[in-house]
Amino acid sequence: MNAGAVPHRIVIVGGGAGGLPLAARLGDKLGRRGRAEITLVDRNGTHLWKPLLHEVAAGRMDADVHGVDYLALAYWHYFRFRQGTVAGLDRARHELTLAAVNDDDGAVMLPQRVLRYDTLVFCVGSVSNDFGVPGVAQHAISLETLEEAERFHRRLLAACVRADGAAAAGNPTGVDIVIIGAGATGVELAAEIRQTTHVHASYGLEHLDPRKDVRLTVIEAAPQILPLLSEHVAKAATGLLEKLNVQVRTGERVTAVEESGVRAASGAFHPADLVVWAAGI
Ligand SMILES: Cc1cc2nc3c(=O)[nH]c(=O)nc-3n(C[C@H](O)[C@H](O)[C@H](O)COP(=O)(O)OP(=O)(O)OC[C@H]3O[C@@H](n4cnc5c(N)ncnc54)[C@H](O)[C@@H]3O)c2cc1C
Repeated sequence: MNAGAVPHRIVIVGGGAGGLPLAARLGDKLGRRGRAEITLVDRNGTHLWKPLLHEVAAGRMDADVHGVDYLALAYWHYFRFRQGTVAGLDRARHELTLAAVNDDDGAVMLPQRVLRYDTLVFCVGSVSNDFGVPGVAQHAISLETLEEAERFHRRLLAACVRADGAAAAGNPTGVDIVIIGAGATGVELAAEIRQTTHVHASYGLEHLDPRKDVRLTVIEAAPQILPLLSEHVAKAATGLLEKLNVQVRTGERVTAVEESGVRAASGAFHPADLVVWAAGI
């Protein structure tokens, strides 16, 4: 590159499993020597690897402690970080528009901005498919983002506190949690919730027996849980879930999610205070 020339501008949108290592490697290789200017864009200020979200949902992991701070990584790996959701793209002008970012009180923290690029890489991930099952969007939570995992955890705690109060008043209701989809996420989440509700109970839920009163059901349309793994592994995992007092319903196709529970093609209705949609691809 000639002295004084503007370095090639590489903008990477999405600091997830794909974009974050790309920004770090390009930063180390090119940004460090000023051979290119690397900018990573993400709508959030921190990254938590998605496969850990079920631990946040169950309350075993604090995302503030385990999340990776983009600005810190940018400093160590010679790239720039810009927070914002992509609001527009002008490919002819090589301009990317980022929406304004508000703080927790709704005040504008960063205004709408335009980033110019020479090379643009999009790594924005995917969203879960609800396969057109009615009610999923309204009544179920998908653990795809940190916000959703934290929302699930808050709702889990609220449901346990409510049930504890009801039991104290002589009207035990318990908590029904239905997880739809018994892939790795659904299975791990069920086990995590069972383990962590014990911990919650020991912090003052005096009238709730977490093993008995927090009822967990995993529903799977395929004939076995963990459908991508061998029958042998699925059987062993089913045995472990049953030991944890998790009900496993295989061969059960969900047809609707309603406010008070989950309806299946078999005609069964599974009452639920909380529903997790872990069945989308
Ligand atoms: C619950 C769950 C469990 C999983 N478990 C496993 C596992 O055990 N093993 C495994 O290999 N894979 C697992 N996966 C899949 C794995 O997480 C994905 O394959 C991987 O994260 C995809 O990487 P990505 O970079 O394409 O997208 P992501 O990692 O999703 O990153 C996308 C990034 O783009 C940002 N973004 C999105 N839209 C915008 C926008 N408009 N503007 C700005 N930023 C935006 C997001 O904030 C995010 O940081 C799991 C996924 C989920 C949801």
